[in-house]
Amino acid sequence: MLFSFMKKHVYITTFGCQMNVHDSEKMAGILEQEGYSLRDNPKDADLIIFNTCSIRQKAEQKFYSELGRIKSLKKRRPDLKIAVAGCIAQQQGRAILKKVPHVDYVFGPQNIHMLSDMLRTNKDVVAVDDNPEIAELDLPVSRKEGVRAWVSIMYGCNNFCSYCIVPYTRGRERSRPSENIYREVAGLASNGFKEVTLLGQNVNSYRSDVDFSGLLKKINSIEGIDRIRFVTSHPHDLSDDLIISMKELDRVCEHIHLPLQSGSSRILELMNRGYTYEDYRRKVERLKDAIPHISITTDIIAGFHGETDNDYMATINAVNDIEFDGIFAFKFSPRPGTRAANMEGQLSDEIKSERLSEILEIQDKISFMKNEALRGSVQEILVEGVSETDKGKLTGRTRTNKIVNFRGTDVHVGQMLYVEIVEARRHSLEGRPVR
Ligand code: SF4
Repeated sequence: MLFSFMKKHVYITTFGCQMNVHDSEKMAGILEQEGYSLRDNPKDADLIIFNTCSIRQKAEQKFYSELGRIKSLKKRRPDLKIAVAGCIAQQQGRAILKKVPHVDYVFGPQNIHMLSDMLRTNKDVVAVDDNPEIAELDLPVSRKEGVRAWVSIMYGCNNFCSYCIVPYTRGRERSRPSENIYREVAGLASNGFKEVTLLGQNVNSYRSDVDFSGLLKKINSIEGIDRIRFVTSHPHDLSDDLIISMKELDRVCEHIHLPLQSGSSRILELMNRGYTYEDYRRKVERLKDAIPHISITTDIIAGFHGETDNDYMATINAVNDIEFDGIFAFKFSPRPGTRAANMEGQLSDEIKSERLSEILEIQDKISFMKNEALRGSVQEILVEGVSETDKGKLTGRTRTNKIVNFRGTDVHVGQMLYVEIVEARRHSLEGRPVR
């Protein structure tokens, strides 16, 4: 008797944030259980998933143009299945099927668990319902890298920043039980992972049987995990208790990503951020008092509706004053369905671009100065793999999340290594291993 086994292949393309990257790992985990294997080329796939992001208009445009390009492939191979996932799927739902008839399935971030059932249906499935049970689901995760892992600790957001679509697409905050998170991280440790990043839209407001500090304490007790990171923190919910935990827990790294968005308290109010610049400044002081060598990175939105020259100067002053280690800055992009989309005072693209370039230029000098100050120091790095920019080098990160490239061999991947910093660049460091 002749047995044949045809393995199916999936190609997943991910847009946007780390949360989406991790959602794609979950989709891959579910699909592996269904007999699929991941492919790097859509031409080799039986199923193509677009995991979309709607946070900026550019990402949405890019998604639709990539989806358009796949049409000819679907025409040649009608059995090819195409799915749209993520925030655009959640927001636009059935409208995607109408707009792009070659799409078979549409499912939002709260409905990833339905993927297997969807594939058993032939076509035109839309799954975008609110899912209050999401935090109780322990979905399988397929992780490519064996050194660092991302772990969801909560879903959704309650903050309703006026420019953000996340509370509408990912729903209200729901925290995973701490025991489930502990079990997942302990499993990662026994599989050789060295670093975990705890993921949520606002990790500081994590709450199950313990709060976020309590969760950090629990994870800090897991042998084999050398480094614990977390994103994203909301300044409003950054408590003294959490700052003390960061200081005292030896595996928690000395880095925090704390989105400021604007240095103007007036704009922060329009953004509904729940803090003033002065509040933010005080929290930064407390962080630096507790952990003097902490690195602080942030997000800045350039050219929010109604941003005057004075508001903009307040942001420039904040960037100069705080001296962040790094900034992710973007031009404001009003998103349909958010409060900010209907606000008055839209700035021209030219002004937004000018402001963005100036912020980045100032930050580049600060980042370089901060990196330069590390020259000659010895840093402990976790080696992650081959450098993306120079295949002859390895790359790793300091505890403060600075990228260090150095000459080394593959045997070092996954190891903690001490390196002397021999050269500083704007966005990375060059190192030399020391004994
Ligand atoms: S905190 Fe604000 S910006 Fe962040 S996800 Fe929630 S609503 Fe969006």
